[in-house]
Amino acid sequence: DEEEADAVTLPLPSSSKPHGDNVWGDTSYFAGKKKIQSFFKLPNGEWELVKILSSSGSESLISLSEGKALMVKNDCLVQANPEILDGVDDLMQLSFLNEPSVLHNLQYRYNQDMIYTKAGPILVAINPFKKVPLYGDDYIEGYRRKSIESPHVYAITDIAIREMVRDEVNQSIIISGESGAGKTETAKIVMQYLAALGGGSGIEYEILKTNPILEAFGNAKTSRNNNSSRFGKLIEIQFSETGRISGAKIQTFLLEKSRVVQCAEGERSYHVFYQLCDGAPRDLREKLNLRNADEYNYLRQSSCFSISGVDDAEQFGILMEALDVVHISKQDQENVFAMLAAVLWLGNTSFTIIDNENHVEVVEDESLTTVAKLLGCSCEQINLALSTRKMRVGNDTIVQKLTFSQASDSRDALAKSIYACLFDWLVKQINKSLFVGKRRTGRFISILDIYGFESFGRNSFEQFCINYANERLQQHFNRHLFKLQQEEYIQDGIDWARVDFEDNQDCLNLFEKKPLGLLSLLDEESTFPNANDLTFANKLKQHLHSKSCFHGGRGKVFTVNHYAGEVTYDTTGFLEKNRDFLHLDSIELLSKCSCSLPQIFATSMLTQSEKPVTGPLFKTGAESQKLSVATKFKGQLFQLMQRLENTTPHFIRCIKPNSLQSPGVYEQGLVLQQLRCCGVLEVVRISRSGFPTKMSHQKFARRYGFLLLESVASHDPLSVSVAILHQFNILPEMYQVGYTKLFFRTGQIGLLEDTRNRT
Ligand code: ATP
Ligand code: MG
Repeated sequence: DEEEADAVTLPLPSSSKPHGDNVWGDTSYFAGKKKIQSFFKLPNGEWELVKILSSSGSESLISLSEGKALMVKNDCLVQANPEILDGVDDLMQLSFLNEPSVLHNLQYRYNQDMIYTKAGPILVAINPFKKVPLYGDDYIEGYRRKSIESPHVYAITDIAIREMVRDEVNQSIIISGESGAGKTETAKIVMQYLAALGGGSGIEYEILKTNPILEAFGNAKTSRNNNSSRFGKLIEIQFSETGRISGAKIQTFLLEKSRVVQCAEGERSYHVFYQLCDGAPRDLREKLNLRNADEYNYLRQSSCFSISGVDDAEQFGILMEALDVVHISKQDQENVFAMLAAVLWLGNTSFTIIDNENHVEVVEDESLTTVAKLLGCSCEQINLALSTRKMRVGNDTIVQKLTFSQASDSRDALAKSIYACLFDWLVKQINKSLFVGKRRTGRFISILDIYGFESFGRNSFEQFCINYANERLQQHFNRHLFKLQQEEYIQDGIDWARVDFEDNQDCLNLFEKKPLGLLSLLDEESTFPNANDLTFANKLKQHLHSKSCFHGGRGKVFTVNHYAGEVTYDTTGFLEKNRDFLHLDSIELLSKCSCSLPQIFATSMLTQSEKPVTGPLFKTGAESQKLSVATKFKGQLFQLMQRLENTTPHFIRCIKPNSLQSPGVYEQGLVLQQLRCCGVLEVVRISRSGFPTKMSHQKFARRYGFLLLESVASHDPLSVSVAILHQFNILPEMYQVGYTKLFFRTGQIGLLEDTRNRT
């Protein structure tokens, strides 16, 4: 009944009063409308948008979607925005910024293939899991000319380019989200837009071709994503002084090595193995003695060999072409494939027990002879490296025989190391090809595509490292969007009410404190020969039990209270993975091989330890020493943060709408959990009450002063700035004048820029 609906009043809280377009900021809008919308929580926990038919005291009569009416308590209802706000392209524009409203707005847009939405300064991207008609030359052109305005990766990238030129500051585009949310695809879309700027000499084409290579070697099918990146990546796109692409540099982080020798049911090892087995031309097959994927033990552990919709043989062709483009010679390509084949055949080698102490020898069969041939060594050399260990006792070297399980471990460690070295070597070659040398004088835009926060049923060392990285990134995000911004307002003396936000410093301290932090304790325990996963867990509990972010558990587990939620880690395998042990015998084997790559790998393994050392070293054998995985990762991460600190960041948060990898399915609970994890709601809250754009008085006066129609009495920057603001009728609530800078609400400077560009 229309009359009764009017009885419901929806007061507009002054704090959420929208800025800019004021059509709906006026409460009279609600008075005239008959359909008041609200959210009602269904028994399954999802929110449904309902119409309030009538309301009295503590109860309301609502109409559900099937046309049913229901009397419900008012406190089961959450205020919804008026229909006119359905699908706004920036969450900042919502009058009511509650969780169901945000969820509804994103869903409304998602249903119409509008997968991008702004949340104040950040871009939210929801994975469509299907082709959406939003990309390509026409769109790129549209965003460049600013004839298309809806939120888009292209738009963010365009802003980054403009700010790089305008402010003469390097930029970064930080893409995050959980596995399968669309980070890697988004990074490629950024690269596509940048590449369209052109560079000359085909460098932009070369940069795009790094994607199929890195994906072949670093991506795999997992239960969450058919093309999951098992490494983190930072690609720095360099520009010349004239604003054209001049080169690029790729840095990778923490490749998941264990996948080479073991993978779970339904998952696959790295794509490149299947591509090689399916797609190698006949002569290469013969040279490498290649078999079908299902004949290799390392690939056969999971019964999954193919991915629906993917033709591995065809991908192999694409890979070879891409390798050509980045100037990897045919000979080097063949060497690379030989290493892959060597890894696969190594997995097929077996051991026989030779005495009653369970000592073994490598069986001399086709697998062994093939590995020997591919590496360029003798069968006996491999046998010695895998089944014995040289030990130094005083001045003598003694040879110890290995047991079955020790020998299997050393074989798998060798396979993992060869693969990891191959990956690093490839990245190095690609960088050589993309490097512009001394000519590089200009600026850069970095794109970060790194694993998001992970919380599974069982969480291991990998999740531990990944989540630590995410704590660091979250702090960077917080610093930029909340902390620094607020500190700056206060310093510049503007009228400003503080907004609280979650700080994750405690959790970072839990990881990083020396000597009593998770990483230090892990390293310390990793150096004790008699330590094991249980002693490690106990040590953590003993030293960290009083920390607020830490909870001990029974046995080998412990729990960390991350910014994105609690995660319980199982310490099984932690020490071993952290030591990442490769016997000197294996390194020696590689160094004696006649093929070039094994030798290069051996050298890089040995020189690794000569780098500046910040953490404890481990004996890897008689002489060689090496950094722990966690310490190395921490070092990489600090470097990364340092590089990012000196850039203007742009954040893209990717959201996975369902766990089925299917189009058209939007699971509210799953989306909400991700929105909470990445702080989208808080960003909107703070941005709405803040002034995200700022410029010094000098810069502002210099940049827009020439637009003044009348001359100003005083020529000091502040007077000029104020005169400009007046001339353009910028509303007083849209800006603040600080001691040194002007601060603007979102979107205000755009008007001035447009006028300036037209003039
Ligand atoms: P991971 O952390 O596992 O590497 P990710 O966040 O990098 O995951 P992607 O590999 O980028 O996820 O995306 C997963 C899949 O989702 C893609 O293979 C593709 O099928 C689909 N997808 C993602 N973004 C888009 C898009 N913009 N348009 C069409 N499909 C997309
Ligand atoms: Mg990825």
